[in-house]
Amino acid sequence: MTKSPPDHADTGRFGPHILARAEQLARLSESEAGLTCTYLSAAHRATAAQLREWMRDAGMVSSIDAVGNVVGRYAGSTSAAGTLIVGSHYDTVRNAGKYDGRLGILTAIAVVDDLNRARRRLPFAIEVIGFSEEEGVRFSSAYLGSSAVAGRFDPALLRRRDEAGETLDGALRAAGLDPAAIARLGRAAHDLLGYVEVHIEQGPVLLDEGLPLSIVTSIAGAARYAITVHGSAGHAGTVPMALRRDAATAAAEIVLFVERHCAATAGLVGTVGKITVPEGTVNVIPKLCELSLDIRAAEDEVLQAAAADISAGSAQIAARRGVTIEIHETSRSPSVSCSPQMQAKLEGAVARCGVQVRHLVSGAGHDAVMFHGITEIGMLFVRCGNGGISHSPLESISAEDADLAARVLRDFLLHFSTSP
Ligand SMILES: [Zn+2]
Repeated sequence: MTKSPPDHADTGRFGPHILARAEQLARLSESEAGLTCTYLSAAHRATAAQLREWMRDAGMVSSIDAVGNVVGRYAGSTSAAGTLIVGSHYDTVRNAGKYDGRLGILTAIAVVDDLNRARRRLPFAIEVIGFSEEEGVRFSSAYLGSSAVAGRFDPALLRRRDEAGETLDGALRAAGLDPAAIARLGRAAHDLLGYVEVHIEQGPVLLDEGLPLSIVTSIAGAARYAITVHGSAGHAGTVPMALRRDAATAAAEIVLFVERHCAATAGLVGTVGKITVPEGTVNVIPKLCELSLDIRAAEDEVLQAAAADISAGSAQIAARRGVTIEIHETSRSPSVSCSPQMQAKLEGAVARCGVQVRHLVSGAGHDAVMFHGITEIGMLFVRCGNGGISHSPLESISAEDADLAARVLRDFLLHFSTSP
């Protein structure tokens, strides 16, 4: 691993290079400390320019499109054999990790660079795409970049405003981009051979099992709810415990019910991430309590059943405690399956690289979701270090794992046309 012979496929060559570039990109940040790179900020535009340069250096024809995606095209040996997209995103959450999204772009650039140095063309074109926006931080709308390439961009979003009051349309124009051209970014489905994405796992499963990689079977469906509990206010000193209708204690029971219920169902996860007592005071029994609920499952039926069970459980809590509970669904996204053929091709590559084949459901959404139904999608997860923590500066990955991911991607591309 320490020596670097001139052979392009040598072990250990990709990993340190990918990690060094991730470090370099992480220095382009909106914040003094840590990494923040939200859509169309100065740091975001500088990141795009750097990625474009690296793509060019790797032998690709590179450009920045109307929605800010960085696109590098490595032509195939024949012009009519179609295009395989290898992508992920370069925007981040606030105070982010260095590898979420970027790992997939940097791995793809490293592999194309390797092909280019070996003067090797594949029978199809490769488009490496760094998507400009996936996290939804600035305009509260995720997948702006990938939705455009998938031909699913919603033009109504152009009127949406960020926290400073600027519209998406205005932000694009200020960055020198043409909002009207976004509608033309959608790729023709007949030209696409597939979409593949390498991404950090963002969870602890691979770390726990001592495995470096896994193939994603599906991306979980998710439903989000706003829950409001209405009780009665009262003096904290004068109302006996038995006569209270405390909204916060009812909410606490709902939180525990969600935890118990999701723990008892395989593949189901549920999180109450926000609890507030509006205008709460230390000496007043809470009249109102507001909760968020996020539930996810690989199968939509499981998600549907969980929503019904949580609703019924909450109704029982409400009846017993004399409070009323309202549950409003705020968003829902169906689960998305990765294509069996792409999974089989990734399995072949993982096995040929000497790694145990493991499959995982992705609990987090990814750009791949946008390409479902348009082309075959496949995803490769890479072990997340440090307890599996992500969306945090503590996010980590080893050079060995990054290297392995690149070698698997390289093998996958080399066998793409011939493997089943
Ligand atoms: Zn990501």
